[in-house]
Amino acid sequence: MNKKATPLIGNIVRRLFGRNATEQDTTPSQTDNNAKRRLISEEEHRIPRRNLNDAAMKTAYHLQDEGYEGYLVGGCIRDLLLKKRPKDFDVATDATPEQAHALFRRSRLIGRRFKLLHVRFGRDLIEVATFRASHDSQPKNGDGEHGRQSDSGLILRDNVYGTIEEDALRRDFTVNALYYCPKDHCVYDFANGYNDLLNKTLRMIGNPEARYREDPVRMLRAARFAAKLDFTIEPASETPIPELAYLLKDIAPARLFDEALKIFQSGHGVQSYHQLRKHNLMDPLFGQTNDCIDNPGNYPVEKLVLNALSNTDRRLQQNKSVTPAFLFAALLWYPMQRRMEQLQKEGMHSVPAMHEAANQVIGMQIRQTAIPRRFSTPIREIWELQLRLPRRQGKRAERLVEHPRFRAAYDLLVLRENSGENLDGLAAWWTDYQANNPQSRNTMTRDLGADEQPRKRRRRRRPAKKSGPQSGE
Ligand code: ATP
Ligand code: MG
Repeated sequence: MNKKATPLIGNIVRRLFGRNATEQDTTPSQTDNNAKRRLISEEEHRIPRRNLNDAAMKTAYHLQDEGYEGYLVGGCIRDLLLKKRPKDFDVATDATPEQAHALFRRSRLIGRRFKLLHVRFGRDLIEVATFRASHDSQPKNGDGEHGRQSDSGLILRDNVYGTIEEDALRRDFTVNALYYCPKDHCVYDFANGYNDLLNKTLRMIGNPEARYREDPVRMLRAARFAAKLDFTIEPASETPIPELAYLLKDIAPARLFDEALKIFQSGHGVQSYHQLRKHNLMDPLFGQTNDCIDNPGNYPVEKLVLNALSNTDRRLQQNKSVTPAFLFAALLWYPMQRRMEQLQKEGMHSVPAMHEAANQVIGMQIRQTAIPRRFSTPIREIWELQLRLPRRQGKRAERLVEHPRFRAAYDLLVLRENSGENLDGLAAWWTDYQANNPQSRNTMTRDLGADEQPRKRRRRRRPAKKSGPQSGE
């Protein structure tokens, strides 16, 4: 039922054979996936103990004390070895999620497709995952209820449990399959990930094509890690990607939205973009943007995308906040603009044309990456403000500055101008306006007012004849 009855035997066996293992030993496995285990000692890997997250170490330690296995694993060990600060710490164990749940008071079971335990320690949240086995080794609990694959090989459910060796081999890249033991402080390597890490190589474990078919998101992860770590994707892992990129259409748009944010808001957006383009991966994620980049017409499409991404990278480096709404507003600006112009050619006025174009472009985008409403509404507002920012006379400028989306809209305006759109110095005007005191601001708008007087008078008369919104103000 649970493993508590056997821990002592397990511990004794481990103490006899595990701790004193030689540099290279073979660990028995129930599948034909026999993996060689290499132990990398603390003197060799040199991960400073102070850099190990306390909560994750306590979690893994406690699991081991209770007779289970427990290791820190994945990206956190990879990043520590590369002297980078890990984003999060994950723990892997042979305890089932339910068994682990029973050991931690402040823990919660989550997930269906991939069951996990969340353990809370103060402000830290540690993800505890049970060792997984590959689906062809089905077995113990693999009656289809725990693991399921579609005809094309896509993994639909991933709850087939296994040994640590099996767990290592079903991870994505060799450098992501390193385990840190909290008791002997060694790194356990089953897939030659340590050498790949030293050689800055991303290598998919197993047959790359089959692994991408199992989970096409691994292709996005390849691009993301290559950018973030400045690693090279080795040829066998790289070659199949462009041809298999279309498989991403089968992935839930909500998951792709999360991946898109990890890719573009990780601080390596520009590099990630180049990786995505190089591997045909921009199309399944941002099809409309990709199409505009390939057929830019007179728009500086790629320049704007790159400027938006380097702006985001810079902000993250300075620990400033970034919002997906701004990023998506920038990435989709030209697709929206192009659609809007078509609608205007068909006779629509600018404001309704923009609303319609925004609906269509966002509608198409959410089929690829589900943008939550809390972001899609601000995207529309940022776009709408692009139409309003040129009209600054009277009290308008003052009111615009107060708009909750003004800052983001101004930032997009600056990006557009810097990318080469001819906006007649509008961004510089707004930069000055914000820097000025109220008196100088009045002078700035008064100067404009004189220039734009005739248009203003005409517009004022219109509502008297027929009321209704003209400008979206
Ligand atoms: P980061 O947290 O920096 O984005 P990471 O490698 O830690 O990178 P996570 O998404 O946190 O990525 O996943 C933790 C670990 O789980 C990975 O290191 C990898 O071993 C495994 N993993 C995650 N996603 C997959 C996947 N799609 N296929 C196989 N293994 C995966
Ligand atoms: Mg991680």
